[in-house]
Amino acid sequence: MNSFNQAPNALTRLVRTTGRVAEIATEAIWPEQCLVCGTPTISLRRSPFDFNPPLASLFCPNCRRRLVSPTSTFCVRCGGVVPPGAPGPRCGHCADSDWYFSKALPLHSYIGLARAVVIRLKRSKDRALVAAVARLYYESRRKELLEFNPDCVVATPMYWRRKYLLRRGVNAPEGIAKRLARELRVPCLSRFLKRTRATAAQTSVGWSERAANIAGAFAVRMRHGAPVFTGLRVLLVDDAVTSGATCDEIAKTLLEAGAESVCVATLTRAGLGRRPRPTWKK
Ligand SMILES: [Zn+2]
Ligand SMILES: [Zn+2]
Repeated sequence: MNSFNQAPNALTRLVRTTGRVAEIATEAIWPEQCLVCGTPTISLRRSPFDFNPPLASLFCPNCRRRLVSPTSTFCVRCGGVVPPGAPGPRCGHCADSDWYFSKALPLHSYIGLARAVVIRLKRSKDRALVAAVARLYYESRRKELLEFNPDCVVATPMYWRRKYLLRRGVNAPEGIAKRLARELRVPCLSRFLKRTRATAAQTSVGWSERAANIAGAFAVRMRHGAPVFTGLRVLLVDDAVTSGATCDEIAKTLLEAGAESVCVATLTRAGLGRRPRPTWKK
């Protein structure tokens, strides 16, 4: 009998199965499709055990372009969208006001594909996309992040009850904060910042009531009875910033807890448009 017609023995089957499992695992770890639109991307596979794939294999050039805006698009102080042809690098809304955070660094305006990705992050359990977006953020804002030189990273906290109910999705800011901390080689201290009460969604209250809605909603936890944030430059991570009132309240809480300064890293920033000047300005 021809040996090629013989059924594979147990060892051959085991080797083939192991090879296929390794292949599936490699594809999962190292996608060769754009994570947003599914377009095939350049395969730059170096090793199946490399957990840090290059951006070119995570996003297609078109999606990268639609997720990252030049920093000149945003106000150098509050990260608000500066309309084209505006007289200066600061937006009209914060030209003469004070924020508790020292600056905000959005990746894109809250429109188009960037908005769709933020919504997808909120609603899905796509941990690979969370990791890839964090990578995209770090690579695109590396210069500004290193200029700020944070000592630690924290995510905008969620109220514990909402976190418990978030079975269907992942907490995107938390996932991004952990990844950014890893890239920056600093600790992620999100567990020491908490939301002390449930608040109505900022989008559901009027523009002028947003500061009141969020006032006093955050607190810091002590570590072994000692303050954690004293003298630290804190990078605060969020997925979408609209009025900036939430980030400003968190920055205020952190500064009162002894932090040196707070910089806001956000995936998207909503344009303030022609709305009236917010009333929480100090
Ligand atoms: Zn794409
Ligand atoms: Zn501004």
